[in-house]
Amino acid sequence: MDHVVIIGNGVSGVTAARHIRKLSNKKITIISSETDFFFSRTALMYVYMGHMRFKDTQPYEPNFWKKNNILLKKAYVKTIDFARKTLALDTEESIAYDHLILAVGSVPNKFGWKGQDLAGVQGLYHYQDLERLNHATQRGIKRGVIVGGGLIGVELAEMLHSKGIDVSFLVREPSFWGKVLPTQESEMINREILKNGIDLRLGTELKEIVADYEGWVSKVITTTGEEIACEFVGLTVGVSPNIHFLKNTSLATARGILVNHFLECNQEDVYAIGDCAEFEDAIEGRRKIEQVWYTGRMMGEVVAKTICGNRTAYTPGHWFNSAKFFDIEYQTYGQVLANCREGEMDFYWEHKDGNKCVHIVFEKESKKFVGINTFGIRMRHHCFDQWLNEGRSVLHVLAHLKDANFDPEFYKKYESEIIDKFNRENGTDIKVKKKSWRRIIHSRLSN
Ligand SMILES: Cc1cc2nc3c(=O)[nH]c(=O)nc-3n(C[C@H](O)[C@H](O)[C@H](O)COP(=O)(O)OP(=O)(O)OC[C@H]3O[C@@H](n4cnc5c(N)ncnc54)[C@H](O)[C@@H]3O)c2cc1C
Repeated sequence: MDHVVIIGNGVSGVTAARHIRKLSNKKITIISSETDFFFSRTALMYVYMGHMRFKDTQPYEPNFWKKNNILLKKAYVKTIDFARKTLALDTEESIAYDHLILAVGSVPNKFGWKGQDLAGVQGLYHYQDLERLNHATQRGIKRGVIVGGGLIGVELAEMLHSKGIDVSFLVREPSFWGKVLPTQESEMINREILKNGIDLRLGTELKEIVADYEGWVSKVITTTGEEIACEFVGLTVGVSPNIHFLKNTSLATARGILVNHFLECNQEDVYAIGDCAEFEDAIEGRRKIEQVWYTGRMMGEVVAKTICGNRTAYTPGHWFNSAKFFDIEYQTYGQVLANCREGEMDFYWEHKDGNKCVHIVFEKESKKFVGINTFGIRMRHHCFDQWLNEGRSVLHVLAHLKDANFDPEFYKKYESEIIDKFNRENGTDIKVKKKSWRRIIHSRLSN
């Protein structure tokens, strides 16, 4: 019987296993060194804050695996012999495969700072990071310093803050996540971080981390020579594909494991999915490496089809993502970059309370809708996906925006304000369309 071996029990590996099981009776083994069972990495923060127990982050009961005839092996894969189709484990066992799926995820970045490996200094990615953070918290943290202004950095700031720990947040750029967010949104998040009592230090870089006499972190020194006393340092300067254990093999890698649009690697019967996969040629409108939950899930489904005989290309459609910055929810659909590209222009509306906004990008000439960011307002994915697929204009999107909105109260109050502003700035005469009941029913069914 064909043996499919999957390295990694995260969302991508587990989705692949579930779908292979739906489609076939192949033997399936998932190997992971992190935890016994699949859990939701995105919920680690809620476990730390006491909103959930760790076992609540596991989407499947422990007996799910036996019931579905999926073998789980807790071990670390030291190396892979692609010619012999075998894996060498740290348990000194060797496992043979017919198909191999690499779903090995990411590791937090470190940039060679002095003191980066001290006790009390860590990233936030694996379950073991949560354990180390809990240990540091119990030991006592008066001040934590977080280095790196991205999504995980702001989560870690919120986590420490929830325990009453003072937080200094060092962000190299002049504004939070300024390489990704347009200025207005980035400044809104600066304000939100400050409002929550975080000592946000923009334009500030880490130089060195210093230990106390026990070898535990005692302070950081910035590139301007400033010293910040602390008992914890969170390094949240992005993640990279976890490929170091594959470096001396014949597998083609760059920043990640190189794959074609079928998620196939340069070795026969070997595939890479999720955070660790890097497309040799980027798919239009997408990055070569995408380290988000839903793309791992989509890739898992696609690779399952291919392995089960229906060779299928990965076609993720339009980019979307969501996150939360303390109390502000963020959603993005299509392409809203920090700066508009040539031939594009934007429209920005902000609520007077300063914590809700709509930012739309469209083509200057054709007025074709390119993408939208919303902060503090929850929207429906399928509406924007449909409008992007249909190549709708910004005029259509604005006229129908209420179809996409989850919160009718918000639109009752502010829709005309948003549309008036657009009309004033662009010399248009968009009229608000009545909410389509067909769309409402469709949205309710699909959300
Ligand atoms: C704190 C945090 C919050 C996040 N929040 C969001 C969010 O809100 N929305 C979102 O879209 N994304 C979020 N992400 C990103 C998202 O969680 C990842 O994109 C996703 O989990 C990656 O899944 P994966 O299956 O590719 O890899 P992983 O989940 O990393 O799974 C890979 C597994 O393989 C194991 N492994 C690796 N090498 C070996 C080896 N040699 N031998 C054995 N086992 C090995 C690893 O230990 C790991 O368990 C967040 C990430 C973090 C860390």
